[in-house]
Amino acid sequence: MGSQTDASAARLERITELAERVTAPAAADVDRNARFPSESFAALREARVLSAGVPADFGGHGASLTELAAGCSILGQHCSASAMVLAMHHIQVLCIARHGASSPFFRTYLTAIAREQRLIASVTSEVGIGGDMRTSLSAVETTGSRFTLNKAASTISYGAQADDLLITARRDPSAPGNDQVLVLVRRGEFTLERAGVWDTLGMRGTCSPGFKLQSAGGVEQILPAFGDLASATMVPVSHALWTSIWLGVATDAVGRARTLVRAQARKTPGSVPPTALRLAEVTTKLQLLRQAIKGFIADYEALIVQPDGGLDTLSSIGFALRVNQLKVSASELAVEIVSHALSICGIAGYRNDGPQSIGRHLRDIYSSILMIGNDRLHATNAALLLVHKGD
Ligand SMILES: Cc1cc2nc3c(=O)[nH]c(=O)nc-3n(C[C@H](O)[C@H](O)[C@H](O)COP(=O)(O)OP(=O)(O)OC[C@H]3O[C@@H](n4cnc5c(N)ncnc54)[C@H](O)[C@@H]3O)c2cc1C
Repeated sequence: MGSQTDASAARLERITELAERVTAPAAADVDRNARFPSESFAALREARVLSAGVPADFGGHGASLTELAAGCSILGQHCSASAMVLAMHHIQVLCIARHGASSPFFRTYLTAIAREQRLIASVTSEVGIGGDMRTSLSAVETTGSRFTLNKAASTISYGAQADDLLITARRDPSAPGNDQVLVLVRRGEFTLERAGVWDTLGMRGTCSPGFKLQSAGGVEQILPAFGDLASATMVPVSHALWTSIWLGVATDAVGRARTLVRAQARKTPGSVPPTALRLAEVTTKLQLLRQAIKGFIADYEALIVQPDGGLDTLSSIGFALRVNQLKVSASELAVEIVSHALSICGIAGYRNDGPQSIGRHLRDIYSSILMIGNDRLHATNAALLLVHKGD
């Protein structure tokens, strides 16, 4: 146990080092040019971070969700786009590791992720569906042992840079929209035709335009029962890692505000600058955000080690409510914290240059409220609360 903790701490230290040395200096250029953070990913691959979530039996680090979340948060302090790409990749890896490890195909694939440091993108959003991950229009069409799958994806982050894609689709053309499977296709098995550009307010380095996807493969590449997979892994892990990135962004914004307040204090020894009060307020909110995420991840990790993998609880209405509540509250709080930091920094924060600039943080953090729209989650929770028996 001790050595596992030491190994985890060492890996996080390595991420901290590469984030400061490689990710941070490139972040402004990645944002300005809406380009993929290629130098970050070269360094992350070299440090074997892309297989951090792959179980040790398949050549990965078998890192806990706590460790993956900490890594995303560290990167998020320097470049939210790098952190989001890494988080989305980890989510796909954990879905495969937890729900595909009984399949020879996916076991072999897990070793390939570790060996080749393959990068996996997610294709859940669809033109005509929007952000409702639990519904698909596109369907898998099977002939014998082969399938084809075409999808008009409204957003695929790093679609052009990914090695492989994990795609939601209806089980077959006669299946209803919510009878979904998850399909892995590897480079060479798919083509992507770009549909539009990615010129957005923030998260510009995620490079997430729409694409027309065409793919084909063997039926062994299909993970059935997407519903269970989504509630047990994809949704809770997504919300845990996304919120950890937002925590990283908010932490850095508050850090910039703190530096400014301390500089003001040094100019007037013996008196507390008025901004210090606002700093005290915002650090309280930051602490609240940190504890909410930490508590959720601890509870989730305790559940998945139960004999049934915690499935009963993870698929319950109470847990679905909690997962959504974490995402909605963390995104709102993170936006509030970054705005608060901006008001402390004043014009130094409003400028796009200088050590107190909060512009990129603010633009990036606004993606949190629409990355699965909060209103959509509130609407889901409103319906669940009508039948939920707990508090
Ligand atoms: C940086 C970034 C990266 C992304 N990367 C990917 C990716 O790699 N792969 C991928 O598949 N997707 C990706 N997405 C898409 C994301 O997961 C969501 O699908 C998308 O943000 C939702 O888009 P939307 O707001 O148009 O759609 P919708 O969710 O359809 O929402 C449209 C509007 O309607 C509102 N709304 C919807 N339903 C309801 C309801 N029931 N009640 C009230 N209001 C409602 C929403 O709040 C919103 O205002 C990414 C998004 C972002 C911002």
